[in-house]
Amino acid sequence: MKYYIGLDIGATKIAAALVSGKKIIKKARVETQVKKGRQRVLKNINLAVNTVWSPKVKGIGIGIAGKVDRKKGIFVKGPNFDKNFKNVNLRNYLQTAFKVPLKIENDANCFVLAEAIHGIAKNYNHVVGLTLGTGVGGGIVINKQVYHGSTGSAGELGHITIQNSGLKCSCGHRGHLEAYASGKATSNLYKKLSGRRLHPLEIEANAKKGNKKALTVFNTMSDSLAAGLSSIIYSLNPDIIVLGGGLAKVKIYISPAIKLAKKKLVYSSLNKTKIVTNPNSSNMAILGATLLFKK
Ligand SMILES: [Zn+2]
Repeated sequence: MKYYIGLDIGATKIAAALVSGKKIIKKARVETQVKKGRQRVLKNINLAVNTVWSPKVKGIGIGIAGKVDRKKGIFVKGPNFDKNFKNVNLRNYLQTAFKVPLKIENDANCFVLAEAIHGIAKNYNHVVGLTLGTGVGGGIVINKQVYHGSTGSAGELGHITIQNSGLKCSCGHRGHLEAYASGKATSNLYKKLSGRRLHPLEIEANAKKGNKKALTVFNTMSDSLAAGLSSIIYSLNPDIIVLGGGLAKVKIYISPAIKLAKKKLVYSSLNKTKIVTNPNSSNMAILGATLLFKK
């Protein structure tokens, strides 16, 4: 059996696991501590790898929230990372420390790759995924390979425009899906209506109790996600769209969005696209990072 280490690096936490096939053997979680600067983040990545390390490891795969240069092994930048943590050559750093090959990919691409190979979409060849977390990540996997497009940036589905000159997105532009469909969006939309900033799960609890403002927030979000989903279906005609991330569990948001998306489709052939959530998606980005070594 071959062993790999998979890393899921976000702006708040680093998850690492020792993986063999699709089995997670050992897992660790370390805080990223972005605000403490570049050297501290690198130290924390090193610590996460060390905690799950085995001498049998054949390679380290990284899924990270942001833009990467896969050929050079560089993390270019991500909207939630500090300005000190960009253009970081993670390949040089980790290959020097651990003496095994390193591969790097966007975290949402890793999530979709794992879903397409081992997960809920394993029986399909045209797979799209959206991660609905703090932000909105996206990925496209065709015939079990990540689709990268012409310059390596395909699948940035959180930044498709759903409202011309709409709300400001974390990327600085306006009207993007992420500004309406993410965890940040939930809190922002609720604050606009109520003047109070709450965690998305608190807003969900309020909506369940019938709170009108909370319900309005999720209505807006469902409409917006439906617009995003139908645009994805029109452009890619996938077999399946998998929704992951913490917000994918919020039924009051997701169920109406899926129904509405289906209503927006003109051709019945497009209605065949399945839209599903995977409630057990938390290890998928890690698994996907190790799948970067799959030939
Ligand atoms: Zn954006």
